[in-house]
Amino acid sequence: MEIILIFVAILLSGFFVSDISGLSDITQNVLGFGMIATIGGLILFRRKRLKSRCRKCKRNWALKFIEQKTIKTEKISVLVELENRDLARNVTGTHDQYIPGKRNTYQYTYKCKYCGNLETRVLKEDRASI
Ligand SMILES: [Zn+2]
Repeated sequence: MEIILIFVAILLSGFFVSDISGLSDITQNVLGFGMIATIGGLILFRRKRLKSRCRKCKRNWALKFIEQKTIKTEKISVLVELENRDLARNVTGTHDQYIPGKRNTYQYTYKCKYCGNLETRVLKEDRASI
């Protein structure tokens, strides 16, 4: 974690220094991209850590995936955006249309590798069935 922060700090300082000393545009772009990638990675990392946190013993990276179950399947209407095209197949606009679909409710089970606590997470997914 600290290593990533140091990396960000180096990139940030590099970014500002490059502005002063007049480095090439390419170098600045690379530094800018590296910065964005690092921040994006950091956010993903934190989110993943939060997801694998045991609610009972509050440890990070504790949950291990055990099983996935479909607990419910419902029939639904899914709103999709379809393209309008003219005779030359050019897109002239879009319109919304409801098509039949399925809503699956999944239950994921995880087990904490430290205290053995079982945790379940429920996730819904809509899918158009054409
Ligand atoms: Zn635990």
